[in-house]
This record gives sequence, structure tokens and C-alpha cells, in this order.
Amino acid sequence: MMRRLLVLMPLILAAAPAAAQPASGRPVDWEALRGEAVQILSEYIRINTTNAPGNEKAGAEYLARILEREGIEAQILDEEVLGAGRANLYARLRGDGSKRAIALVHHMDVVPASPQHWTVDPFAGLVRDGYVWGRGAIDMKGDGVAHLMAMIALKRSGVRLTRDIVYIANADEELGSTGAVAFVERHADLLRDVEYLITEGGDIPVENGRLQFYGVGVAEKRTLWQRLRVAGTPSHASRPTRENPVPRLVAALARIAQHETPLEVTAGVDKYFRDISRNYQGQQRAWLADVRAALGDPAAREWILSDVYWNAILRNTISLTVLTGSNKTNVIPAEAVAEIDIRLLPTANPDSVLAALKAIAADSAVTWQTLMPPKAPLENPVDTDLFRAIERAAHDRDPGALVTTPMFTAASDRPTYRRLGIITYGLDPFKVENAEHQKMMHGNDERLSIENLGWGTRFIYDILRYAQ
Ligand SMILES: [Zn+2]
Repeated sequence: MMRRLLVLMPLILAAAPAAAQPASGRPVDWEALRGEAVQILSEYIRINTTNAPGNEKAGAEYLARILEREGIEAQILDEEVLGAGRANLYARLRGDGSKRAIALVHHMDVVPASPQHWTVDPFAGLVRDGYVWGRGAIDMKGDGVAHLMAMIALKRSGVRLTRDIVYIANADEELGSTGAVAFVERHADLLRDVEYLITEGGDIPVENGRLQFYGVGVAEKRTLWQRLRVAGTPSHASRPTRENPVPRLVAALARIAQHETPLEVTAGVDKYFRDISRNYQGQQRAWLADVRAALGDPAAREWILSDVYWNAILRNTISLTVLTGSNKTNVIPAEAVAEIDIRLLPTANPDSVLAALKAIAADSAVTWQTLMPPKAPLENPVDTDLFRAIERAAHDRDPGALVTTPMFTAASDRPTYRRLGIITYGLDPFKVENAEHQKMMHGNDERLSIENLGWGTRFIYDILRYAQ
């Protein structure tokens, strides 16, 4: 095989000079590329980037070495502001510059793993039973490797690019977003020509072996975390007083807990329900096809809101979480403190939501503190070349499959990039069983099938090719 190639090569070069390279490029050996991807993901998982402390610089250096080996320029950035052992990575594969660039973004940090609950070592990068096992396999080193291999495949096959492909790996997504924030604040020049960005936040869920849809995340909720505090006078609990802060705070929290936030159907969510209605039958299909109307029907409303995800994309949500009073049974404390996790729809105004909640708590003794300023609201257009490229690549694989826009209820780094005007889509290029996904995401035995890694790499490759 090798000898024949050597003989043929000069002939091919003579017949087809580089300038006449067809737009589709030389064929890619997907089987071999998948093998490389498995090896790289396994090694990447072995670099323990648990946040805190993150240690992402080692991950960035590892990725930079691979990129440079492929002749793709890469830079390690932001060490000086992110702290010891931390960094962002930036690389760019050049096109002819006639159209604006597409960025592929992932975060290198992972959430902690509790090895005692895993059946394998979460940082061994084990390849077994058709899977690459380890913390980060799906969130989101697997994405990062699929992005990397798709970019390498484009480079090696010589596909003619009208758009540069930018590759970014960020530190600290899981805790403070400092990686993406530093990148956007310090390197706006590197992003100036970027029109589109793909990162996490859109699933391709499978239910009992049946594909549900291709999810492209175009919107996400915003966190508006609050700390509520009531001050009191400490004293011995054997003589109850009116200055005990605990019952006051509890009463205010009870009023908040009973409050039902109003329902609202945003444009993207409306489209999502209409799209997925095709997966349902009879009455349920009719309800989902017009969710605004259905929410006015008590039976429909109860069925729709009983799904915790659907409930969360139809309203601002409030979860009471942290609660502290005294640490001794017989002592009335000096203060009582609670924290609540508020998640806003992209259309919500944080100030008016807070004002309404304060009115519901109805106690001026409660002081409110916003724990983090809310990120910019995230909503993106759907009528774009990149969205159409995603649809086309999805339909190549699953003709007739739904390509829809579920709202992301958690938080990602997308709003940080969206601030620069970049159209940012969430797209995790793997088909994962719903039940499996629930267990693995920030849970135990996180793993990505070898088949999925190869599939996702090629999916990204086709999207990038179709978007040219
Ligand atoms: Zn993630």
C-alpha cells in the first residue's frame, strides 16, 4: 500500500497543482482519524484539570503541541491574569479570508470526581468496552477533541476554506468563567473577524435508541443568585424573643417558595415545542404545536409543567438552596442567611424580577444581595448560514430529523462571547441516551463511546465544510 502511494504521488501532484485543489479536498481516512482521536482524548483526560485549581495550562500545552505538529499556529495566553498553572489556548487555521471566521470553543477544566463512586479511575483515560472513560469525556474534553480532529482533517485534506477556523480552549468555565472573560476582554482583536462560534449547550438526545432531535442551543437562562439576610439579637434559646432572625427569614422564604412565577413563551421556546410536537401523538401533539394556547388549558398546562425541563424553559425559576441560622440548638443567632438560585428567561429584566420578589417576601428586615452580576442575555438568530450548515449535516445523517432550538437552563460561556456580537450556538456533537447523560453529566462513570467520538468529529467537519 505504502509503495504504491509513493509511486503515485508525483503523478497526482503533477496532474493537480495545489491551486486547483477541489473545494471538497482529499478524502479523509475516518477510521484512522478516530483512532487518533481516541488516543488524544485519553491523554487529555489524564491531564487532571479539576477546577479548582484547574491546572488548565498543562491541557493548553498538550493541545498546542498537537496543533503545531499539524502546522496550525497556536498560542498559550492569559497566564499572567488567570493565575499559576492556568491559561487559555488560541489557534487559527487560515482560509482565504473572503468570509468571516468560525470559532470552535471548549473549556478545559472539569468538575471534581469522587473516585469511590466510579467503577474506573476517573483520570486514567481508560479505553474499554468501546468507550473512553473519565472526567471530562462529555463535559467537555470530548467536544474539544472532536473540534480539534475536525480542524486537523480540514488541514490535512486541503479543503478550500473561505472562512478561518479558530480554535479556543478556555480555563475556568465550571466555576468563575474567568478564562472566557479574560479572553474576550484581552483579545478582542483575535475575535474581530469571528462571525460564528460553536461550543457546548445543545444535545442530540436519544430515548431508548430512538433519536429525539438535533438540539442547537441558541438561548440560555441567566443566573441571578441572591443572598438574603436577617439580623437579630443573639441570646439564649431558653427565653424566646422577637429578635430571633430565624423565624422572620423562614416566613419570608415561605412566601417566596409559594410564589408561582408567570409563564412566558419566548420565540425560540415556541419553535422548540412546535418542532418536537412531531414526536408526539394525538392530544399531546396538538398541545405542543401551540404551547401558548395549551398553557391556558388546565389539563395541558399540568402535563407540560410536570416536565421539569419544560417548566424551566417557560418561566423564571426560583430554588431555595442554602439556609443557615444558629450552629447550636440552644442559641438564638445574630443572623439568619439563605441563598436562592434564580434563573431568568433571556427576555426577563433582572431589576423588575427582583423588585417583584422583594414585594412577595414583604419584610423590610430582609436584606438582599446579588451574588454575581447577571451575564448578558443570550438569544441568537436562527436564520444563518451556520444554522443551515448544521441542518444539512444533520440531514445527511438522519434524513427528516428535527433540528431544533431547546433553551439551555444552566449557564455557559456563550454570553461572554455573544457580547462581542458573535453568533454563538450550543452544539455537543454526540448522540447520547438521555438516561445515561443524566447520570454522567457532573456525575459518575462519565464516558464517551468511540463511535460517538468518530461520529462527532465528522459531523463538525461537515458543518465547517458546508458553512464555507
Ligand atoms: Zn461544560
